[in-house]
Amino acid sequence: MEKKKKIIDLERRDMPKQSPEIRRSNFIEVAFGYSEELAVAEAKRCLQCKKPFCMDGCPVEISIPAFIKSIADRNFEESIKILKNKNCLPAVCGRVCPQEEQCEIRCVLEKKGAPVAIGRLERFAADWEARQSGESELPEIKPSTGKRVGIIGSGPAGVTVAGDLILEGHEITIYEALHEAGGVLTYGIPEFRLPKAIVRREIEYLKKLGVQIKLDYIVGKTKTIDELLKEYDALFVGSGAGLPWFLNIPGENLNGVYSANEYLTRMNLMKGFDFPDSTTPIKKHDRVAVFGGGNVAMDCARTAARLGADEVYIVYRRSRNELPARLEEVENAEEEGIIFKLLTLPVKLNGNDDGWIKEIECLQMRLGEPDESGRRRPVPIEGSEFVLPVDACIVAIGNSPNPIIAETTPDLKISKRGTIEVEEETGKTSKDRVWAGGDIVTGAATVILAMGAGRVAARSIHEVLSG
Ligand code: FAD
Ligand code: SF4
Ligand code: SF4
Repeated sequence: MEKKKKIIDLERRDMPKQSPEIRRSNFIEVAFGYSEELAVAEAKRCLQCKKPFCMDGCPVEISIPAFIKSIADRNFEESIKILKNKNCLPAVCGRVCPQEEQCEIRCVLEKKGAPVAIGRLERFAADWEARQSGESELPEIKPSTGKRVGIIGSGPAGVTVAGDLILEGHEITIYEALHEAGGVLTYGIPEFRLPKAIVRREIEYLKKLGVQIKLDYIVGKTKTIDELLKEYDALFVGSGAGLPWFLNIPGENLNGVYSANEYLTRMNLMKGFDFPDSTTPIKKHDRVAVFGGGNVAMDCARTAARLGADEVYIVYRRSRNELPARLEEVENAEEEGIIFKLLTLPVKLNGNDDGWIKEIECLQMRLGEPDESGRRRPVPIEGSEFVLPVDACIVAIGNSPNPIIAETTPDLKISKRGTIEVEEETGKTSKDRVWAGGDIVTGAATVILAMGAGRVAARSIHEVLSG
């Protein structure tokens, strides 16, 4: 019998979005997501490869062709079941996962310039479920093992460990320092990229599975790791990298200079944009400069624009090619009128007589030879000094782990960068019965890498607990 040849459809379906003029002044999610018709059409592009290379790029091992086939067959309920089997945060990953570097870059259609939109389809399936009145049935939970696991931090790493181990029948408690669970998903990534109702829903799902969450609980202060080890059979540390870096230039302590953490936490967790209906105010600024070029910097700049700033700058010392942010977010920022001051280095912040920032002294840069990171090193151009008038600055150049757990756990091996050292294949730390993963191990990275690390650690914890 003659073999039927697959037709290749290279028209990757776009996702409808709010227009830049409208969205620049609201906090509503930018992208609307696929309609059923668009999702089915996009899913039908998948070639259902016998050897799906896309799966090699997914740290949580989602059965990508299978969930996409269910969408193509309009069996949306089945598709979300397949997704949830491996990923307890599909609505989150479908939105913020750097798909273009993970699963989509490995899709066979990538070489032809139009990989299947795996992330958008994942988002579609999760949103479809949310639109239905109820939740799809909960997965089966194995009989109780009587073992107790404590998890420090409720970000993507901790949540993945919790979601995996509860299904194995272990008793799970998460300890979270803040008054709301979700880690960066809750306090960092803004509403217009990741609506908080979605994060809450995913956390509620975990609670329905039986995970207990203790909020306002700082491990290292309320109780130490050693004290918790007396109550638990195993501990997982997923406390992230929430300590902001500063530029260490003169003037950084002026009024109107924020760390990205403070700025975004005021907005997302404390709902500063809703003041006085919320209790935490945030000042409206007219000319705002954001230092940095990653996702965090884009989030700060786009937030400042939505708060009503007339001009918002991204000040970055390399060129557009080296911006570490996702291309999609750079394009969104450009569409919203954010001004990119590239190849620019801030060297000094000057204030007015009242102690508020009024301008930034900058140097123009050019790109030299590659440095140890492989990116071309920025080199100052002599005599290129200029001044940028602003009334606020946000420093978004990176984070490292908060040292509280390291300082209160003497026998935990810590790297020079302040991260916890682990065995890569298991997530085991130097301390017996303690595992770690996510940003606390890698330094600031991505949601899906944190989740992947959570999966590895959960597997190892389960192996040890089940003897
Ligand atoms: P976190 O999400 O940081 O969670 C750690 C949790 O532990 C926090 O809730 C913290 O309060 C809690 N904690 C800390 N110390 C203690 C303690 N002593 N006791 C109890 N609890 C404690 N990644 C992407 O993939 N895509 C993006 O688009 C993206 N955008 C981002 C935008 C912003 C603004 C930021 C800040 C990050 C972004 N990231 C993005 C990175 C991503 O969010 C992180 O890599 C990821 O959240 C790390 O997960 P985690 O579980 O390791 O830590
Ligand atoms: Fe791709 Fe991320 Fe979804 Fe995995 S979780 S399939 S890497 S979008
Ligand atoms: Fe489908 Fe691309 Fe994965 Fe092949 S590699 S199964 S086409 S998503």
